[in-house]
Formats: sequence, C-alpha cells, structure tokens
Amino acid sequence: MPIMNANSDDQAIEQVQARIASQRAAFLRNPYPSAAERRERLGALAGMMLRYRPRILEALNADFGVHPQAAGELIEVLGVAGRAAFAAEQVQQWMQPEPRPTDPGLFGSGKAYVLPQPKGVLGNMVPWNFPFDLSAGPLVEMLAAGNRVVIKPSEYTPACGELLREMVAATFDADLVDVAVGGVELSRRFPTLRWDHLLFTGSPQVGRLVALAAADKLVPVTLELGGKCPAILAADALDARNIGHILGIKLIKGGQMCISVDYCLVPSAQLGDFVRLARAHAAEYLRAYSRGQDCTGIISLRHRERLRHLLDEARSRGCEVIELEQRDDSDPRRMPLSLVIDPPPDLALMREEIFGPILPVLPYDSIEQVIAGINQGERPLGVYVFTGDQAIADQVRDQTVSGGFCHNAAAVHGAIPSLGFGGVGHSGSGRHHGVDGFREFSNMKGVFVRGENDHIDALAPPYGALASGLVAAALGG
Ligand code: NAD
Repeated sequence: MPIMNANSDDQAIEQVQARIASQRAAFLRNPYPSAAERRERLGALAGMMLRYRPRILEALNADFGVHPQAAGELIEVLGVAGRAAFAAEQVQQWMQPEPRPTDPGLFGSGKAYVLPQPKGVLGNMVPWNFPFDLSAGPLVEMLAAGNRVVIKPSEYTPACGELLREMVAATFDADLVDVAVGGVELSRRFPTLRWDHLLFTGSPQVGRLVALAAADKLVPVTLELGGKCPAILAADALDARNIGHILGIKLIKGGQMCISVDYCLVPSAQLGDFVRLARAHAAEYLRAYSRGQDCTGIISLRHRERLRHLLDEARSRGCEVIELEQRDDSDPRRMPLSLVIDPPPDLALMREEIFGPILPVLPYDSIEQVIAGINQGERPLGVYVFTGDQAIADQVRDQTVSGGFCHNAAAVHGAIPSLGFGGVGHSGSGRHHGVDGFREFSNMKGVFVRGENDHIDALAPPYGALASGLVAAALGG
C-alpha cells in the first residue's frame, strides 16, 4: 500500500523508513531488471504524465495562483513524457558493459569492463518551482538505471504533491515508486535515512545541510543547487531578438527557475541601447503581462515580500529601477518585470540568487573583465553568451567554470533530454538527464575477468624474480 497522508512528520518518516525497507527487499528479489522491464516502467511513467495532464495543470494553478498552461504542458508534462520516451529508446544501449583497455604485458588476455548496476533505493527531494519536472523528471533516469524510488515533494506545493502521490500510487507498485508528503521536519529527516543515493534540488544553503546529514550514513548525494547565472551580451549582440529572448527566459515561471538569467552584462557604451530595446520589447509583447495568464504567481507572499525588499533596497541606494509595465498591485502574488541599472555589488540582489522577475543590468568594458568577475563569484549553474564572434564565445566558455553553457541562447541546455544537467561547486554536483543521469544513478561497477598468459601474480607477495623483471621492463631496464 502506498505511503498514506500522515498526521505528522514523525508518522511520515516512519512510513518512509518502512518503505525503504520494503523497496530494498523488492530490489534484492530483482536486483538487475532487464531492459524490457525498464522500458515498461518508463512507458508507464510517460503514460502517467499524459493521462494526468489536465489535473497537473489544475494543481500547478492551485499552488502558484496562476500558472501558464503552455509552461505546464511544455515543461512539466511533455518535457517529462519526452524524456521518458527518449530514455526508453536508449536504455538498452546505456546498460551495455563498456570495455576498457588493459596492458597485455601484465594482464595477458584478461578483460576489463564497466557494468552499470542499479544502486538500489533512491530518495528524491523536490523543490517547489518545477513540482513535476523535478520529481518525475529525474525519476526517468532513476528507473532507467533499474532503481526503486521515494519522492518527497515540497511543502510549498501541496496540490502538486498530493496529485503526484495519487498518480504514482495509481501507476506503480509502491515497492517500485512511492511519494511521501509532509512538512519541514520530514525534509530535515529525509536525508538522514539510509538511501543508496539521494538527489536534492534546492538552494545551496539547504543543499549543504542535506549533504551534511547524508554524510552520517555515507549516502552519496547529487546536489542540484542554484546561484547566479549571467547572460553576457557582446558588442555585436545588442538586438531585439537577443533581448527579447533574455527577457522571455527571465519570465519563465516568473523568474523562479534555477537556470534563469540572474543578471545581464552589457558593453558600457550600449547600456542605453539595452534599456531602449527592453522597453520596446515590453511595449510590444508584455503589455499587461502581470495581469494575464502568462505570468506565473510568486510561490508565496513571503517570497513576494523578499523580492519587494530587493527592489526597495536598490531604490533606497539610488539605483535606477525600470518597471517594464505599469505597476498593478491588485494581485499580491504577481509582479511585473523590473530592470535594475548598474547596481553596486553589495546589494542583496547582487549577492543572492534573485529567483524572481528582477533583472540587474551591469555595464562592462572588456570580456576579460566579465570573465574575471564571474570567476570571482561562486560557480554558476549556467553561463550564457550572446555574440556572432566564435572566438569570444569560446573564450567565455573555456575560461569560466559552470554547470552548463549556452551560446546565443539562455537556459535552453536544461530542456535537452540527452544533455547531462547539473552544477559545479556551489551550484551543485552530479548530473541528471540522459546517459549522464543514468550513470549518476548507477553503480558503475569495474569488472576484471582473468584470462591467459598474465603476470598478475607478480603483484602479490612473496615478491621474486617475476616482480623484479616486470619493474625492470617497465623502467626500460
Ligand atoms: P530551498 O533550498 O530553500 O528549500 C526549501 C526546502 O528545504 C523546504 O521545502 C524545506 O522543507 C527544506 N528544508 C529546510 N531545512 C532543511 C534541512 N535541514 N534539510 C533538508 N531540507 C530542509 O529551495 P527552494 O525554495 O525549494 O528552491 C529554490 C532553490 O532551488 C533555488 O536556489 C534554485 O536555484 C534551486 N533549484 C535548483 C535546481 C537545479 O536543478 N539545480 C532546480 C530548481 C531549483
């Protein structure tokens, strides 16, 4: 029976513990599901997303106040279903042992290979911003890798969490996939349990606590965190198309997206052009945007207040704040897009990940200065460069370290099911999506099979002429 709606987090954690035990027992009965079984599970996952499509859209609206239908369809429903279909098509190939070369002088005709093996029972801690894409999405590669999974949705998205629980219970045996909903105490205790692998998606601050908690039982973790992703416009790239693209990406989920453009870097001499083109874009495409159905609600009034403070602080420090739409406070959870021109680095909006519809625009004098500035901060989840000059794009790509990178686009690398997705340093560690996710959630077991005519006995005592002969031969003696 699936995990029930617990009366308390204590009860929920007991249920999760029991579920780990029953999933582990089921795993040991079938520790290496065939490619056909995995394809069937992935097919069931894709079918589940399509079957529940209308209810997914309803639940997103319930939790966000307003959630654009197209974003729900494209990212949360079709994105996950497409990712599952891609994995189903690829999984047999991903499962193949990978031969590795060996030195015949030592290992004779022995063979070495890497065999991806399921890890066992995995936990997935999901944030509120993409309640299905970040729960059922990584489930794709977790199931492709032959694992069993317990998902914990965010307490900020109760409607999506409940629906996910219902969908999963109707689609999978609870000893294959289950969902545990609860509050902050469940979140705190979830990473202390004995998982075979744990995925956490959220902020670097909570990610650190999760990693510390998981370390106690030596649970391996994948951390999908956040940070400040810059978009750099080179001098040749200030045009309506690029600026429209950047503003559009910023408005996906109202800026509440880990790979959103956090701030924009513009050649000093073209700052005015940027503002002019942004205003023109807003006048044409974003009239009454924050009152319409395309504007995702801010997840809570507390989050909305935080964003308001970021803007108030910028104004109080004398920064120019440009609201790209006439302000309308009738819906307290929605906000127009604002530009903040050249804010000083000590402002909260330049120190924290913004996670909302506020776009700082910073002037720069040289690409080297831009690269040095990015390298001074924590490593971003994504870096985006806009230019027709391949040398500049390569320079930024190769001289900055980020989880992902886009040239003449922003954030789109996160929408490609075959491309490993993740961060580096403070923006995270590990990957999901595609074969990289499959490997992340597999134990990449190194296997050696002894053959004929080897000298491996030389490695063990008693050491004699065979060992000295090998040393001499290796040193060219
Ligand atoms: P958050 O890290 O603030 O998470 C809040 C959640 O943490 C709450 O749901 C709470 O239950 C839980 N929590 C609190 N204390 C905890 C503890 N000690 N141990 C475990 N859990 C605890 O993040 P959020 O607000 O849910 O999401 C926003 C952040 O997530 C942003 O930083 C964003 O960039 C990041 N994010 C990253 C990705 C990615 O793929 N890299 C995707 C989406 C969001």
